[in-house]
Amino acid sequence: MKVHFWGTRGSVPSCFSAQRYRDKLFKVLEQVQGQDLAGPDAIERFIEQLPFSLKGTYGTCTPCVEIEVDPQTYILCDAGSGLWSFGLKAHQNKKPVTYHVFLSHLHWDHVQGLPMFAVECKAEDTLVIHARHEETEAFLRAQMNAPGFPVTFDELPCSVIFDVRKPEEAFEAVKGFQVSTLKQRHAGDSYAYRFEKEGKAIVYATDAEHHEEELDPKDTPFVDFFKDADLLIFDTMATVCKEMSYWGHSTHCSAIMLSAWARVKKVVLFHQNPALDDEALDQLLEDARCFRKEYFEKNKSINKGECYPQSIIMAYDSLELDT
Ligand SMILES: [Zn+2]
Ligand SMILES: [Zn+2]
Repeated sequence: MKVHFWGTRGSVPSCFSAQRYRDKLFKVLEQVQGQDLAGPDAIERFIEQLPFSLKGTYGTCTPCVEIEVDPQTYILCDAGSGLWSFGLKAHQNKKPVTYHVFLSHLHWDHVQGLPMFAVECKAEDTLVIHARHEETEAFLRAQMNAPGFPVTFDELPCSVIFDVRKPEEAFEAVKGFQVSTLKQRHAGDSYAYRFEKEGKAIVYATDAEHHEEELDPKDTPFVDFFKDADLLIFDTMATVCKEMSYWGHSTHCSAIMLSAWARVKKVVLFHQNPALDDEALDQLLEDARCFRKEYFEKNKSINKGECYPQSIIMAYDSLELDT
């Protein structure tokens, strides 16, 4: 299964300024001194060895993750500003397309990309909004009311279907993907989604408050929900604010503890704090890898000497992963 990350920041888009670009450029040029950069291959090798914070940027858009289905069907987790970037690709498709958007909850950063995305859809396209919050339709309609947006919900060119289910009611499978959910601790509640097909499992679990110092992996439904996942996309927004309060979010340490107990193969640190720059996120990834090593050394019995998660990835806009 292929997964594309279109938006990975939490709360608000994190702008990338001209000054930040210039600072990066300066640091790269400092490292160029004395290097042999004759020819494209040598340049490529030089770029490759740079830290991610210099050769790229973690990105700016709010949550939107695509799970590849087929050329005319898409599964999307959340509709943050990354949905608009996804639309630049998807709207090139001349055939009728069905978009299945699974909403974790209705906070602005998870729905703000929907109006601009939906107005670009074709008349033959279908947008299916899957959610657990009963106010979903009313809220998404209100989001497009004047004076907030120039096109009303009823004027959208495509068909829109709301598939809003009560917590006890299961979602139907989408093109062979079984979908299950779990309620998470967050203001107004949020829901984690688990997508399974042909023995592979991807879990999208953002905007969830887990206190690492109180976390008892033997006494939480999340270990079962994450069990043996090939990929876990997990909230790390609280990394810099937990001293004040978790504010409905989690840290990289909770991501690793839960992944270790659930034997998650790859964990993606997601919904990063928009205040963190690229260098800070490089450091956070390094901290997460150190924490995994320490946690594994102290808890070797958990998985009979095997280390989980097997890999830790910091999410960035345009990241693509194969499970
Ligand atoms: Zn959020
Ligand atoms: Zn939220």
